[in-house]
Amino acid sequence: MFDALADRLESAWKKLRGQDKISHANIQEALREVRRALLEADVNLQVVKDFIADVETKAQGAEVLSGVRPDQQFIKVVYDELVEVMGETNVPLAQADAAPTIVLMAGLQGTGKTTATAKLALHLRKQDLSCLMVATDVYRPAAIDQLVTLGKQIDVPVFEMGSNADPVEIAREGVEQAKAQGVDTVIIDTAGRLQIDQDMMAELIRVKEAVQPHETLLVVDAMTGQEAANLTRTFHEQVGITGAILTKLDGDSRGGAALSVRRISGQPIKFVGVGEKVEALQPFYPDRMASRILG
Ligand code: GDP
Repeated sequence: MFDALADRLESAWKKLRGQDKISHANIQEALREVRRALLEADVNLQVVKDFIADVETKAQGAEVLSGVRPDQQFIKVVYDELVEVMGETNVPLAQADAAPTIVLMAGLQGTGKTTATAKLALHLRKQDLSCLMVATDVYRPAAIDQLVTLGKQIDVPVFEMGSNADPVEIAREGVEQAKAQGVDTVIIDTAGRLQIDQDMMAELIRVKEAVQPHETLLVVDAMTGQEAANLTRTFHEQVGITGAILTKLDGDSRGGAALSVRRISGQPIKFVGVGEKVEALQPFYPDRMASRILG
């Protein structure tokens, strides 16, 4: 495990052999390699800096354990810290005391928000939970059609009011319908823009206030790398998120965005998207992601 990082640390550790304490110089050299590995995994720069500072504190002065190679020991400190920062365990989707659980999906256009809505609905349906998906993206009629098509594919109903209705009204009516029908979970797909803009934020806030969701999930494209940090900060400050779904992890990305999202919002990543198909959703596990980030 972590062969790439282990290779990088090789030279730092050569100097360490035969010593019984990890020295300041060794740590600095090793930390530089960790820093480089994290940046290559697309972790946000400020997040990397904070992370490195924490690892430094933990590694500094740590006794070299007998029978444990110091490089392995150091890698374990880095790995454990990554797992800890990402929340240690999987955090499942919130469930309302009284149905329906209301889930609001937020994010930029093209991140995989609509696909994630359907993926989540299918995931819940497989657990014998009934779902209703609500299409509020009135700016792109194709988005409504897309959700309707996905709904047919996974056999989950879609609530829509066409593209002339007010998104807040659609969301409210959708939740009312879910209540009337005794549906377990209602998932509201919202409009995204190519970039964050104030109209989008204002509308999202209005929808959120109207339906009081139990979950507001930010959908983040893992391929956006460094940008994931700004996106998370803006959405969390302005709208308030309770978790995230990291999509497109089937791509080249090493998934550093996971660390950024968690560190910046303090909220857990709950699922990862690993393909275009509706089945391609998995629960997020911090230990697996830590291994992936370290390469
Ligand atoms: P939205 O604009 O945020 O609603 O994004 P869409 O759900 O329409 O997805 C945009 C594109 O990303 C589509 O081509 C999806 O098939 C694709 N996509 C979504 N999630 C994933 C994923 O996890 N992996 C891959 N490879 N593609 C994805």
